[in-house]
Amino acid sequence: MRASSSSVEVQPAAATVALTEAPASSQPSSSNLPKPNVNGNHVMQYVKEVVAFGPRPPGSTAHLKLEEFILSKLKGVDVEQDRFTAQTPAGKFPMNNIIAKFPGKKNGIIVVAGHYDTLYAQRQNFVGANDAGSSTALLLELADQLRGQQLDGYSIWLLWTDGEEAFVKWTATDSVYGSRQLAQKWQQDGTAQKIKAFILVDMIGDADLDILKDTMSTPWLSDLVYKAASNLGYQSHFYQFSTGMDDDHLPFAKVGIPVVDLIDFTYGYNNVFWHTPQDTVDKLSPQSLAITTDVVLETIRLVNQR
Ligand SMILES: [Zn+2]
Repeated sequence: MRASSSSVEVQPAAATVALTEAPASSQPSSSNLPKPNVNGNHVMQYVKEVVAFGPRPPGSTAHLKLEEFILSKLKGVDVEQDRFTAQTPAGKFPMNNIIAKFPGKKNGIIVVAGHYDTLYAQRQNFVGANDAGSSTALLLELADQLRGQQLDGYSIWLLWTDGEEAFVKWTATDSVYGSRQLAQKWQQDGTAQKIKAFILVDMIGDADLDILKDTMSTPWLSDLVYKAASNLGYQSHFYQFSTGMDDDHLPFAKVGIPVVDLIDFTYGYNNVFWHTPQDTVDKLSPQSLAITTDVVLETIRLVNQR
């Protein structure tokens, strides 16, 4: 991903709330959604297992092994693999968007998405703990939470996107390969019209967690994420900065789907760890992974209530 507007606007800091006092949701829940109370150490364990494969650019053995790993965690789940070949400035590459479908009783779909490929340009020594180990792991945790449930609310689809990263230089045609492919497919087959919300996560494990307010996201859904964070007492980690992000959510916005991007683009001072060999697990924290995962679950609950 990249910031599409050059200036970062600083918002007034939200009131500090003690993390140890995260209150229960302010409204009673009648749904059977998992409670927003995930174990951050469990999500962190997934990050470590994903990172252990090494650099995971499309076309690599490590990428194939990670695909197998994700699929192995989805036994008994309705899984669709959206395989295609991407034409990139570095040649043709096989890609695979992985979609895990958890059916709900209500008519409509909520998608939670994040990419699982790592940067091709840094294919020797970039293990991408935050980018994209954190998003890969968050989705694996959600799969564990949702497994075996018949949801009362909307269906939930977990989407591991491929080819998010540019191969040479980020442009409209050298980026978000998987999302561009799938958004077009969902527009053609009518799926796009059924999607109530598309929640993207990217770089959400930074120990110093500052999820920015993305100005390219759909305003009502962006506001709902902040409400979800506030309900859980986590608002001090959200929306202190505001900028426009160019990321996996935009192809889906273009086909009319409400989208939001949860991303922390201040990874180290001046984003200094981003796309460097310093993107390693020691920069992440279980607490940040738990906060983001819980806020996604609470956002899903609020979308169901709308
Ligand atoms: Zn990246």
